[in-house]
Amino acid sequence: MSSVTIQPFEGRSVCLFCGSSETVSPDYIQAAKDFGRQTAEAGWRLVYGGGGVGLMGASARAAHEAGGRVLGVMPGFLRSRERLFDDVETVVVTSMHERKTIMYDQSDAFVVAPGGVGTLEEAIEVLSWKRLDLHGKPVIFLNLNGFWDSLVAVLEHSIAERMSPESFRQAWSVCETVEEAIAAMQQSDSVPRLQHDLR
Ligand code: AMP
Repeated sequence: MSSVTIQPFEGRSVCLFCGSSETVSPDYIQAAKDFGRQTAEAGWRLVYGGGGVGLMGASARAAHEAGGRVLGVMPGFLRSRERLFDDVETVVVTSMHERKTIMYDQSDAFVVAPGGVGTLEEAIEVLSWKRLDLHGKPVIFLNLNGFWDSLVAVLEHSIAERMSPESFRQAWSVCETVEEAIAAMQQSDSVPRLQHDLR
């Protein structure tokens, strides 16, 4: 692990997992902007992957422009590929694992917006940690345009086939709009912070 310094933040933070693609429908980019702005207006810090591209860049710029705190976490080898957005607090780390560890540790809730395989990997990892009782933080799918319906169906299927327990259904929630996702993360006040870290 590299040693990074992160500015203290007294409030609550949401980690946004979302796509880096630049070629998506403008509706997704607009939703990412709305999420960034509404996160700032709610007084929450946005923690994200540090890139200036796709939904990532759109959400971070909007949160910053609305006066919110933003923390970007970028592995050095992706700086140019994901066009590091350094108008906000940014830490550059050595690996994907370190990126995810910091994003995880610095957040009180996770919102999963539409994205590609990177977003999928990040969402599945925090769900698998929750399945193992490593944390109790909310995992909220921002299901724009039904984007996550098929993933949620697979998760439900794993419960129906008893590969996962019934209780696993409580590991995530699904919101259809940005406003609902912002409300869901704000309702998570009583969620316990990390109890034990065995990752
Ligand atoms: P994508 O959804 O594929 O556009 O990727 C979204 C973000 O996830 C990008 O910043 C990727 O660099 C990041 N990402 C992809 N795989 C990983 C991983 N294993 N650990 C951390 N971040 C990742």
